[in-house]
Amino acid sequence: MPSHRDALQRVITDIVAPEAATTDAEGRFPQPAVTALGEAGILGLTVTADLGGGGAGLRAAAEVVERLAGVCGSTAMVVLMHYAATAAIEAHGPKEARQGIAAGRHLTTLAFSEAGSRAQFWTPLSTATPAPGGDAVVLDAAKSWVTSGAEADSYVWSSRPVDPDAGPMTLWLVPADLPGLTKRVAGFDGVGLRGNGSIPVRAEGVELPAGARLGGDGDGLDIALGTALPWFLVLSAAFGLGLLQAVTAETAAHLSGARLEHVGQTLMQQPVPRADFARLRLATDRVGAFLEDTLTALETGRADAQLRVLEVKAVAGEEAATGCDLAMKLCGGAAFRKETGVERRLRDSLAARVMAPTTDALLDFVGRAAAGLPLLGPA
Ligand SMILES: Cc1cc2nc3c(=O)[nH]c(=O)nc-3n(C[C@H](O)[C@H](O)[C@H](O)COP(=O)(O)OP(=O)(O)OC[C@H]3O[C@@H](n4cnc5c(N)ncnc54)[C@H](O)[C@@H]3O)c2cc1C
Repeated sequence: MPSHRDALQRVITDIVAPEAATTDAEGRFPQPAVTALGEAGILGLTVTADLGGGGAGLRAAAEVVERLAGVCGSTAMVVLMHYAATAAIEAHGPKEARQGIAAGRHLTTLAFSEAGSRAQFWTPLSTATPAPGGDAVVLDAAKSWVTSGAEADSYVWSSRPVDPDAGPMTLWLVPADLPGLTKRVAGFDGVGLRGNGSIPVRAEGVELPAGARLGGDGDGLDIALGTALPWFLVLSAAFGLGLLQAVTAETAAHLSGARLEHVGQTLMQQPVPRADFARLRLATDRVGAFLEDTLTALETGRADAQLRVLEVKAVAGEEAATGCDLAMKLCGGAAFRKETGVERRLRDSLAARVMAPTTDALLDFVGRAAAGLPLLGPA
């Protein structure tokens, strides 16, 4: 039987790569790629094999995101959010949703960020209140950014708890077609990741069966920190690695091909560009090594695993942004004229810094974790 790697490569070669430039230029959601990834078993890769999924873990998911990010950042981000949301659904969601994801016909995503608490998703302002006379809740929310917002089949959705005395957050599995959900479908015209379809989604008096809750009332933050968040952070690092690998290859090709005719040499034969190219390669290898170490720490239950997880997105996000910027300088006018593909990488790399937990938030978390302080609340 062909491995998921072969299936992924076929989808990349046949659909993702040929569509990548148009996806970016037109800000178009990569639906053909997402459909093909579903049919190829990639969207269901991380669901347990008992339910028809691939039964794979975070390492395999990271490899998928890394390979996609090197070709089309938008497609990679859609898959990244799907895997992060799937981690919470796998742990606490209903069998039908998991079977749908396993079969590749159910795309999901995270709906955490809100207009009110902005990047600080751990303090949602949105509410879930008991519906009068029934076993349902009423959701009211202004979700500010939902990747695949118009295309997803479900959202892993945060709210304040139903019981105000329960913990800080409750999670729900919200079907995307519920009456009362408003999606600003034409809402995303981003600098980068232009096809990821990240839009605001509002809920006004949306009735949801109480059974759609993921885990206990008030347990949402613990569930997010234990499932979706580690996946999001590690996969974001894989995304940064994929970008850096692509930009390093594109820069190498440019420097090796561009010639200074008057001295009969390539740009790669000049010491200064070569040293800068080495810096780019070092950044790529640093991120690769850090990601590998993080995965190993998780797989072996190492004592510093949580610290590594908190560090890895900050390391990769910043390295990718500065690395892509360096590649722009190295490839000169050709990069500025978009001939090398490097400028799309640079634009795609900028999202990680502000995607929550942002680099700023992660630096605070890393400082707290390393000092033995609580991650949230008074230091
Ligand atoms: C392409 C893209 C896709 C996204 N997809 C999703 C998604 O699928 N689901 C989802 O839930 N969210 C998603 N988001 C939202 C993302 O996770 C963040 O919530 C959002 O980008 C934050 O933007 P903001 O303007 O509200 O940030 P702000 O909260 O206004 O922060 C702006 C900057 O100020 C810094 N800052 C703010 N307050 C402080 C402070 N107290 N101390 C230090 N620094 C601070 C932040 O670190 C950040 O750098 C997406 C965002 C992008 C760009």
